[in-house]
Amino acid sequence: MVRENLVRARKRIERAAERAGRDPHTVRLIVVTKEAEIDQMREAVEAGVTDIGENRIKDALSKKEVFDSHVLSWHMIGHLQSNKAKDAVRIFSIIHSVDSVKLAYIINKEAEKNNKIQDVLIEVNTSGEKTKFGLKPENIENFLKETKHLKHINILGLMTMAPLAGDAGSVRPYFRKLKELADIHKLKELSMGMTQDFEVAIEEGATMVRIGSAIFK
Ligand SMILES: *Cc1c(COP(=O)(O)O)cnc(C)c1O
Repeated sequence: MVRENLVRARKRIERAAERAGRDPHTVRLIVVTKEAEIDQMREAVEAGVTDIGENRIKDALSKKEVFDSHVLSWHMIGHLQSNKAKDAVRIFSIIHSVDSVKLAYIINKEAEKNNKIQDVLIEVNTSGEKTKFGLKPENIENFLKETKHLKHINILGLMTMAPLAGDAGSVRPYFRKLKELADIHKLKELSMGMTQDFEVAIEEGATMVRIGSAIFK
């Protein structure tokens, strides 16, 4: 099941990239395992998945132990509390959800202790929904200014979550917005698109898509 779903998801990624005139290899599939059983995860890893997305530190820690012998990149995609930054820096290749200058400072400090340069993305609330985390678009400039001197974080790009929508087309403006913001600020990576909307996100320039339920349903 998982294997077939993966094949299907990869095909859809490929087709969406081609529709947009993009090389499919420029889209990184992050498999979101927050609702997956260990056996399902194992199936995914055996089918060649290398990038794993989790939104809780505790789950990531225990799952990482299970898959310790595999070379995997772990992605923190959920809201990160300051007091969990220490663990996050220890286990994640990329933290997608940096949403305040304060958190950036704490991550930087923890990364310094670990002799690491932590790759991060800035989460942006492109929809303005109150229930969503993320910087307001107009605050990105200030964030970049205030974190410029931090030597132990590396800001790769931006991340967003579109509103839940009945039809995929209605989320397009939010992805387009994120792409515009990344261009303005000369940031390269765009983490956007989930099961409901990853094809639209790819058409709008996503370089990382975070897909869970399409693979583990
Ligand atoms: C759960 C989650 C996803 C994956 O969502 P699916 O609809 O299962 O593909 C992507 N991004 C974030 C931030 C999530 O929390």
